[in-house]
Amino acid sequence: MSKKNYAELCALLREAGTLTSIKSLLGWDQETYMPDGATPGRSEQNALLAAITHERRTSKRVGDLLGACEQDKALTRKGSPEAANLREIRRDYDLATRLPGDLVAAIARTTSQAQHAWKEAREKDDFAMFLPWLDKVMGLLRRKAECYGTPKGGELYDALIDEYEPGATAREIEAVFTPLRARLTDLVREVKQSGVKVNTKCLKTRIPAARQHAFGLWVLERMGFNLAIGRLDVTTHPFCSEVGPADTRLTTRYRDQHFTDALYSTLHEMGHGLYEQGLPKGDGTAKSLFGQPLAEAISLGIHESQSRMWENFVGRSLAFWKWALPKSRKFLGDALEGCKPADLFAAVNTVTPSLIRVEADEGTYNLHVMIRFEIERALLRGDLKPKDLPGAWNARYKDALGVIVPDDARGCLQDVHWSFGLIGYFPTYTLGNLYAAQFWETINEQIPGLDAQIGKGQFAPLLAWLRENIHRHGKKYRAGELCERVTGQALSPEPLMRHLRSRASRVYGVNEEN
Ligand code: ZN
Repeated sequence: MSKKNYAELCALLREAGTLTSIKSLLGWDQETYMPDGATPGRSEQNALLAAITHERRTSKRVGDLLGACEQDKALTRKGSPEAANLREIRRDYDLATRLPGDLVAAIARTTSQAQHAWKEAREKDDFAMFLPWLDKVMGLLRRKAECYGTPKGGELYDALIDEYEPGATAREIEAVFTPLRARLTDLVREVKQSGVKVNTKCLKTRIPAARQHAFGLWVLERMGFNLAIGRLDVTTHPFCSEVGPADTRLTTRYRDQHFTDALYSTLHEMGHGLYEQGLPKGDGTAKSLFGQPLAEAISLGIHESQSRMWENFVGRSLAFWKWALPKSRKFLGDALEGCKPADLFAAVNTVTPSLIRVEADEGTYNLHVMIRFEIERALLRGDLKPKDLPGAWNARYKDALGVIVPDDARGCLQDVHWSFGLIGYFPTYTLGNLYAAQFWETINEQIPGLDAQIGKGQFAPLLAWLRENIHRHGKKYRAGELCERVTGQALSPEPLMRHLRSRASRVYGVNEEN
């Protein structure tokens, strides 16, 4: 009987997973090719699908089957895949059943429209256009957080973070961020004081988007991204969308100058994509694990560790450019004539406070995240009103990064997240950097000569390591547990600081120790 219950439970989850994948496809389409006029209709499609999926996920049948499986000793043996699956199915079920269906539909409908409003507001640099939507989204998310409930001794924001980084709390994140912020600020100051001016001429050459696209695609394939079950398209805000079990879609954006912006966006999203392609979800048919937690990513922090690893630890290394620069000629022509790998290495590792998070260098990136963490915590607490967002944003940028925000398009309107209703999501970016750095040190201990392999364009050993140690486990472990298993230690800021200081020392001559 037990096997039958478990099989039926997994079949129901696969159906819910299939519905979710349809919604992902609609979302991808909305961000890439959908005509603007289709927004109201698309919002209704999203709302209906979200409601149906929610109904399925929270059905009495799922609850009964889950309860029966949990009573079954054959399924709950400690350390077994079934037990890990049931633990996560229980968590998802309990969270989902706390949300009323009308709220789920309202969030889907409102955020679908808010995304459209955000896009237009950002293009026109008009915060007032987005403000009513931000108000609505914040109201709905506050309701959602209240439904989830504040954990004991915690705050409302914790309920939203937990969705992206299970078990993490605002207080814990603050405890990591506060000392890290001071050390990053020191590093930025030392870089400035070094007086070194990095020559970035090689980034300023004009390269048409089509050539950049061909080069990006070629690098993706060489690194192991499977284009037979994936794509790369162009959009306003780069993302990776897991449309279905064998359908991982990446997007990027091109500018004629600074071709590395697109390249690193592409590598970043590819890192997410490689994780998705490495999860054991199979082809989505009845015999696959698709829809089960064992075939899903652990958390956004771990997801981000994969994207940042390929983007920064691999893509911004000298070894990468030793390999990629001579190969790039075939795609980019003479555009990089006269540039050496060391020039590109220095140019893509400059540390300069700037306005846009997704284009920020590694040294200042986390300061952008910390600003958003403070702001969204204040918004949710009600300490900051949405209408006061631009002022609060600009003041924090001046304080933390010393930059003057010239307009809201390059200020509080730059990120898509709040229009999507993603509050509590930003801190996972910095967690991802911390995990990436810690994994990277272990990987270098376990793959001798990794740097030399990258210098020859041999990425298979690295990808195989990630597949073996991280990807194939799905949600078997929680993020902290995986980190300890893989690296032998709890998450620490030291590897990230060592990495950043090592790069800054090579480019600016600052002290490696701090
Ligand atoms: Zn990412």
